[in-house]
Amino acid sequence: SVKDMKEIVALCKRRGFVFPASDIYGGLNGFWDYGPLGVELKNNLRDLWWKWMVTCPPVGPDGQPVDIVGIDSSIIQNPKTWEASGHVGGFSDPMVDCRETKLRYRADHLIAYMPKNGEGNGYAFMENEEEDVIAKRIKNLSGGKSIGNFEATPLVDLPVTAYATIVGPDTKTPGTLTEPKQFNLMFHTFVGATGGDDNKAYLRPETAQGIFLNFKNVLDSSRVRVPFGIAQVGKAFRNEVNPRNFIFRSREFEQMEMEWFCHPSEAKMWRDFWFAERQKFWTAIGLVSENVRMRDHDKDELSHYAKEGLGTADIEYRFPFTAPGFGELEGIAHRCNFDLTQHQKHSGVKMEYTDPMDPKNKFIPDVIEPAAGLTRGVLALLCEAYTPDPNRPSGVYLNLHPALAPKKAAILPLTAKDQHPVIATKLYMDIRNEFAVDLDIKQNIGKRYARQDEIGTPYCFTIDDQTVADQTVTVRERNTMSQERIGLDHVAEYLRKNIRS
Ligand code: ATP
Repeated sequence: SVKDMKEIVALCKRRGFVFPASDIYGGLNGFWDYGPLGVELKNNLRDLWWKWMVTCPPVGPDGQPVDIVGIDSSIIQNPKTWEASGHVGGFSDPMVDCRETKLRYRADHLIAYMPKNGEGNGYAFMENEEEDVIAKRIKNLSGGKSIGNFEATPLVDLPVTAYATIVGPDTKTPGTLTEPKQFNLMFHTFVGATGGDDNKAYLRPETAQGIFLNFKNVLDSSRVRVPFGIAQVGKAFRNEVNPRNFIFRSREFEQMEMEWFCHPSEAKMWRDFWFAERQKFWTAIGLVSENVRMRDHDKDELSHYAKEGLGTADIEYRFPFTAPGFGELEGIAHRCNFDLTQHQKHSGVKMEYTDPMDPKNKFIPDVIEPAAGLTRGVLALLCEAYTPDPNRPSGVYLNLHPALAPKKAAILPLTAKDQHPVIATKLYMDIRNEFAVDLDIKQNIGKRYARQDEIGTPYCFTIDDQTVADQTVTVRERNTMSQERIGLDHVAEYLRKNIRS
């Protein structure tokens, strides 16, 4: 059954995972803030990715762990970066404006319903609109015609002349659409006190270029040798035409990217290796494999840098708003040697690698790039974890992998008197150094369990009169709600055993 996105968004706000940015001013379209629990979940995903990539990277085909180092590069770089990378010239989406409402849409996200007999208006809708909603709107707008009289076509595939008669997707106030224009997605700013084109700079639209810019620095300062990787996690900014689906497509977001540098003759082997590793990652941290799939890009979808190579595949997740279809979570691309070659051309700095075993062997490495969304990953994990359950007071719990749960355990004194809070506080002080734990003293116990269920805390330890008498506590397990008693002095060991990443 498809989960209700509205309920997931409501839980995120109610419990402090994600808030609209500038909420008190009515928000800002495409921007989000992460609350006390959201930041913990996001940091946990970031740290797990870092662990899988940098501190405990996978074992390669030769039986040895591969070599990956991390960096943290600047968000604003010399603007020549983005000329060399192709973003100034080509990082754009086709968009259309509604002449009457002035609203702007991504042309490739619109589906046009054109009359089969060629007579009268066609109507455009957002691609994720439900078919029965579309049918109703078409009926209203066309004075009673049924959806069966229309044929659905992606708007970008239509001849421009079709726009003369098309009615835009905001059907409350229908209007006609302009021809598609390319719209560059980079945000600009100015560096230094004087504005003007000479000082224009860009907020990075991807973290990858910061890695290519530092390829030489990393090679010259560390002991890595090809093949190796450089990883980075950080903010990226894209002035998306239609930010939507909660944090799935926002204008400020975070990426987790790794550029793997290898000899061109080994590109295929490493591409297959990273395809497999990256899928393993997402399923190991809790995405159910039925909801994850790998999809090869069609030829016409390939980015400029991937045209010549082995292609690109996406790891996709079945989000509630794409179901029964899938949406991109991570792209794994063979970037060939496009970026290093471009930076060599534009900067004049040689990007060649010299094989230390054979100094005559000089080459610009090929790149395999697994590029994942951190904030989009948080959304996939929240959607997967959200589990309606009529048998508990909260009606729902988050089935998060313990390694990702913002709190690993809650310590709950049954009452606010009789030694309960004293013992609870001591337990909390004893284990907080090792685990992220919540000490929650007030409110009735049912409400406190409900809160912990909704934030995905795997274990609750309750301190009651029996604890005072025999030094045991109740452990309540989130998913089964089963309870057992264990010794107070076994709590840390219990968590150590049950919470492994
Ligand atoms: P899309 O086709 O959805 O616009 P993309 O193919 O342009 O995405 P990439 O440039 O490959 O995306 O970026 C790598 C990853 O960064 C994506 O798989 C996604 O998880 C994340 N990402 C890209 N754009 C956004 C965005 N606007 N909001 C949130 N995450 C994003």
